[in-house]
Amino acid sequence: MLVSLQNFKTKNGVSSIVLFAVIIVAMFGLIRLSPTIIVDKMLARDIQLQASLWENRVINRVSAGKQAFITQQLSAQDSEYLRSITLSSDIYRFSMFTPDGRVFWSSNESEIGRVVSGSFFSEIVATGNDYYMHETVRASEIDDFNLHAISGESSGLREVAEIFTPIIQNGVTLGAIEFFTDITDVRNTFIFRVQVALVAICAIVLALIGVIAFMIRRSGNLSVKRLQMQSEKERELMDQRLQMAREVRLLGELNEWLQSSSSLDELFEMVSEFMTHILPNYEGSVYVYSNSRDVLDGCVSWNGGSHKEHIVPKACWGLRKGRTYSYGESEVDFVCEHMKPADKRAYICFPILAHGETVGLMTLRAASNTTKEEFQAGKKLSQMCAEQISMAIANVRMRDQLQDQSVRDPLTGLFNRRHLTESLRQMITRSHKDGTALNLVSVDVDHFKKFNDNHGHDAGDMVLRAVGAAMVQLCDGDELACRLGGEEFMLLLPEVSKEDALARAERLRQVVEDIRVRYGEKNLPRITISIGVSHYPDHGTMPQDLMRAADDALYEAKARGRNQIVVANMGIEAECSSTKQSKEPKNNGRASNLAAE
Ligand code: GH3
Ligand code: MG
Ligand code: MG
Repeated sequence: MLVSLQNFKTKNGVSSIVLFAVIIVAMFGLIRLSPTIIVDKMLARDIQLQASLWENRVINRVSAGKQAFITQQLSAQDSEYLRSITLSSDIYRFSMFTPDGRVFWSSNESEIGRVVSGSFFSEIVATGNDYYMHETVRASEIDDFNLHAISGESSGLREVAEIFTPIIQNGVTLGAIEFFTDITDVRNTFIFRVQVALVAICAIVLALIGVIAFMIRRSGNLSVKRLQMQSEKERELMDQRLQMAREVRLLGELNEWLQSSSSLDELFEMVSEFMTHILPNYEGSVYVYSNSRDVLDGCVSWNGGSHKEHIVPKACWGLRKGRTYSYGESEVDFVCEHMKPADKRAYICFPILAHGETVGLMTLRAASNTTKEEFQAGKKLSQMCAEQISMAIANVRMRDQLQDQSVRDPLTGLFNRRHLTESLRQMITRSHKDGTALNLVSVDVDHFKKFNDNHGHDAGDMVLRAVGAAMVQLCDGDELACRLGGEEFMLLLPEVSKEDALARAERLRQVVEDIRVRYGEKNLPRITISIGVSHYPDHGTMPQDLMRAADDALYEAKARGRNQIVVANMGIEAECSSTKQSKEPKNNGRASNLAAE
């Protein structure tokens, strides 16, 4: 639209100049040509009027009046008088004609007897009409030129007028009078005056045209400017709307993807992809609080950004203030530790909040070559993205927590019975398919009721937590430590040989035996555990069979005096008594038993 407006303006400007030039040329032509036409018409009319006066004068002075045209005779006094008229007026010459066009008297005697040659006399004058004739002749051809002329040379050209006026009586043309006069001077004077008048009129007209053109152009310019501004505004508005629509669409897509992410790792991958796309002028990173909540772990960064492995909460002004922190906007501001080494680039720290709790931090920094304006322009969108990402992280964490709660025992943090059963089923399937080993280690704390009774339930809980921690320490890879309830535990050891499983069970027994739990001001007495072990597929191919076999072995261990290991159905025990064999290495005792096996 702007281009067409400018075209219109340019075309308009060019056509105005052309139009103005045409008007000036037309006016120049008018001034040059029209005065002669106008003046000649005026003079013709004027001389026709004068001719009737002259006619009256002649008729009244001649004693015979109009009769003189009938008799064609004039007295000597009349002739004398009439000749004097040419000397005392503008009339250079006048002649009197018979109706058939013959001169019967003339102020120029040589004319007498001449007959008018043109048909105009018989057709116009004889029929009672005036005949006016304007000619350019040599001054030398004019009668008595020197006598009459006010200016001019006798050799030059002169403008002369001849008028024939009929003498009519009772409707009959008695004859005619021809008046001949020099109109050069009066004509030139008139032409000059008309030219002056035309110049003045043209000047006024030109001035008016100029003023009108200026006004039109100005109002045109104003309208063009107004239109330009309007179209500019409309374009900006349209751009803003398109931008907003794009942002809303991208935010919607981001939200949809984030909602469908099943883990934090997957979520961070999506965040990285989307943020690079949505805000290409920003590089960023996300940190999330570790479980201990004393540090934040760097999780992901994108678009050329980087993150540190860990940062402490006080390293970030956003986390310290508990709100978004924009660096590079105030005259005085401080760089967060985690953004060092810092350069002049502006950045924003968004604390990630979830259900009123700060769960992490998102940083966005102007990418290199990004202007301050570009950085500012994306601030609102980045804030919205941060909110969406916060919400998504909160959701995934909450989902993880709920999931965790449903599979974990709250006291020890070990997996619960439900998870154990499920995992055991999966492990059996895998072992069946791959032909790999699978071992179950059933654990029960010895005389725990008594321990509780002697030291209290809270002390008992501490012991249970310590046993749980010892079991977790023992696990690698896919191995699973579970609390089935009370003081009963189970270890699932897939892809571990029978010998290794027994060795691990023995190590657990020893570790528990060595546990020292401090409760208040005192050390709690040592505890021991009894262990039953079953192997897949030796003792069953179904979860319940394997568990029952391990439990039976455990009861056997109890029955044999506790603090020992029994393998299901084999009837061979791996026993280590802390009391009886405290002097000799326990591994040796167990090793001899295993050797016997
Ligand atoms: P045994 O050597 O034969 O296993 O004897 P025991 O006393 O350990 O076995 P029993 O099954 O008779 O007692 C288990 C006790 O474990 C009973 C209960 O007081 C205690 N207990 C069960 N759950 C918890 C718990 O969550 N916390 C604490 N502190 N004690 C528990
Ligand atoms: Mg028990
Ligand atoms: Mg017990």
